[in-house]
Amino acid sequence: MGVSGLPAARALHGLGAEVTVVNEGADERARAQAAELTALGITVRLGDGATLPDGTELVVTAPGWRPDKPLFLAAAEAGVPVWGDVELAWRLRRPGAAPWLAVTGTNGKTTTVRMLASILRAAGLRTEAVGNIGVSLLDAVLGDEEYDVLAVELSSYQLHWAPSLRVHSAAVLNLAPDHLDWHGSMESYAADKGRVYEGNTVACVYNAADPATEELVRAADVEEGCRAIGFTLGTPGPSQLGVVDGILVDRAFVAGRQKQAQELAEVADVDPPAPHNIANALAAAALARAYGVAPAAVRDGLRAFRPDPHRIEKVTDVAGVAYIDDSKATNTHATEASLAAYDPIVWIAGGLAKGAAFDDLVSGAAKRLRGVVLIGAERALIAEALARHAPEVPVVDLDRTDTGAMSAAVREAARLARPGDTVLLAPACASMDMFANYNKRGEAFADAVRELAAENG
Ligand code: ADP
Repeated sequence: MGVSGLPAARALHGLGAEVTVVNEGADERARAQAAELTALGITVRLGDGATLPDGTELVVTAPGWRPDKPLFLAAAEAGVPVWGDVELAWRLRRPGAAPWLAVTGTNGKTTTVRMLASILRAAGLRTEAVGNIGVSLLDAVLGDEEYDVLAVELSSYQLHWAPSLRVHSAAVLNLAPDHLDWHGSMESYAADKGRVYEGNTVACVYNAADPATEELVRAADVEEGCRAIGFTLGTPGPSQLGVVDGILVDRAFVAGRQKQAQELAEVADVDPPAPHNIANALAAAALARAYGVAPAAVRDGLRAFRPDPHRIEKVTDVAGVAYIDDSKATNTHATEASLAAYDPIVWIAGGLAKGAAFDDLVSGAAKRLRGVVLIGAERALIAEALARHAPEVPVVDLDRTDTGAMSAAVREAARLARPGDTVLLAPACASMDMFANYNKRGEAFADAVRELAAENG
């Protein structure tokens, strides 16, 4: 009975299905929601997520549920299909409904989908960024609003349960270990991401710097005539988009691509112009171009795009030092990208490590680190990696998790920084040891920076 379950139950009930909702929890909120559903005529079972109700013909699951749940095993045994919310939305599309341009990957999905929607809008198309963000897929598919095309963010969980999804074009941005507890192994995580390419009709967009993504394109069964399109931060080859002298160029969707390239936008049109974000912009541009959007709309859409909060968001400058909030960098892959974007850096990191190792991250960034301030429960893991790979870098180990800890961290960072440096909050960890979520962590950082700025006049 979460964000995807409730709309799914209502939609199916509205279509005349006999619906039973099973929910593990039975707290007050669940009971209130159950009462609402029951009033509609939907059966609700609270406190039992394990048993398959008798006579079930179809299971629709929320994306968070792990595939090894007893209920799914029972469904498999009984030959009952299991669909996720994405599969359900896909099947409920009306005839002639808007095609989907899909984005998945370990990091950068939300950013890329929003960039894509901005580009499509600049082209005068009726569109929306949907999926894990903003409008839910079911609402977009069943609502009254009419769309020409949808920019769809898909997680590996959602793809796992979406067997018949066949989109217009799709991009896998990158692949790094994440959520392996859910998927069981890197292989099955990658395979679930790769489903996004199955049955693509126009383009499979891959990251030329991440061979695993190209491998997934090769493994996919696509429609006749569907093309593999790469994106690269370097000079693009034929059938790629890339960067030449600060210009984003297209050598895929142009006539005479063996010899010619089409200018799309400038690197400076992308906010922020960090390398990983240029990659996101190229992926969004590739999907838009696959859909037939003109080059000028790519430029206008990228110019109009502003990143969501806490994703490499500049708070302000204090005493010649830039303060950047990338609280959304909750894993090492994301943090690696944001550390690559600045030099020299005073890095604020730490929190809940989710089983990650920090050696590669720290050794890759060591030369650019002016200093490090560590916060949070599992900061010792990062401290040990720093001792191994960057012993000369000064480290402040803040042994406190109270509400004032972030303010203390910012002050320590300010002390380490010199004019021209960047203080970067990119924790490489989840926030729940000290904060309700990454938003709250980012807000605490921004508040502390503004306090510091006020004191500096
Ligand atoms: P997602 O929706 O996949 O979680 P977001 O766009 O919300 O992705 O970005 C999440 C984090 O990943 C941010 O901290 C951002 O700095 C980082 N990030 C964004 N794009 C990339 C990328 N292409 N490669 C690596 N890290 C990225």
